Amino acid sequence: MKEFEDLKKKILTEYPRLSPRDRFRFECGPDLECFNVCCSDVNIFLTPYDVLMMRKALDMDSTRFLAEYTIVPFDKNQKLPVPLLKMRDTERKECRFVDTRKGCKIYEHRPWPCRIYPLGAASPGETEVNAEPFYFLIQEGHCKGHERAREWTVDEWLEDQGISEYAEFGELFKKVTLHPAFTRGRELAPQQIDMYWTALYDLDKFRRFIFESSFLKRFEITEPKLDELKVDDVSLLRFGFDWIRFAMFGEKRVKVRPDAEKWIKGEGVKPGVANA
Ligand code: SF4
Ligand code: SF4
Repeated sequence: MKEFEDLKKKILTEYPRLSPRDRFRFECGPDLECFNVCCSDVNIFLTPYDVLMMRKALDMDSTRFLAEYTIVPFDKNQKLPVPLLKMRDTERKECRFVDTRKGCKIYEHRPWPCRIYPLGAASPGETEVNAEPFYFLIQEGHCKGHERAREWTVDEWLEDQGISEYAEFGELFKKVTLHPAFTRGRELAPQQIDMYWTALYDLDKFRRFIFESSFLKRFEITEPKLDELKVDDVSLLRFGFDWIRFAMFGEKRVKVRPDAEKWIKGEGVKPGVANA
């Protein structure tokens, strides 16, 4: 993971920072000799919303999707696990969703990094001198799209690639992963990391946890909301973020039942609760 840290440092210190109105030239398409080259030997980290959309495209249970299509690289410096899209075990290490003639087989549900490319987005964090989030342009030698004349503003590109749909969950994700508690050196217990993984990535397991454990005896959720959580994965993910912010950082985003408050205060939210 040192290479990612080095790249992050380089982006923050050397890359020109683009604002939403800045312009760049780019056009991708199957007529280019580099078509699909960018879908091989690449590190694609997935957000919770990416996983949700991709497994929907495949009509797959979340636990099975995570096991079959992702790996979680181990890094002792990383506070939270992040799934990486598993590439084919071939010399070229192609993405398992790429079709050599037609391109991405899950194009409508492709993950955020594939959408925003050739742009990148950086959130320097509050400890940096210049802490404002910014966009930057990724120019790789193999990518011929930069030689085309089509011009975009950053905003136009994000709109064209359907990024706005991902923005709500991108912000929620940042509220957890860039939480000030981590800047202050907060460490998580293994059970808390398991809970984070379940509530944000393994949504089918999270749903079972809500409806099949003692969860509803401890937390108050309205009937209409419960009906929604039973069938709506997007709503479930939104609730997963609330639950994680409550359980990991003590934010009052989930209502504790009055008769369960003593248990919550006395013992704290049990970290291993996701396995209850
Ligand atoms: S133009 Fe760039 S993004 Fe498009 S297929 Fe070629 S390498 Fe990939
Ligand atoms: S998910 Fe689609 S766009 Fe992204 S690397 Fe795989 S084939 Fe390419």
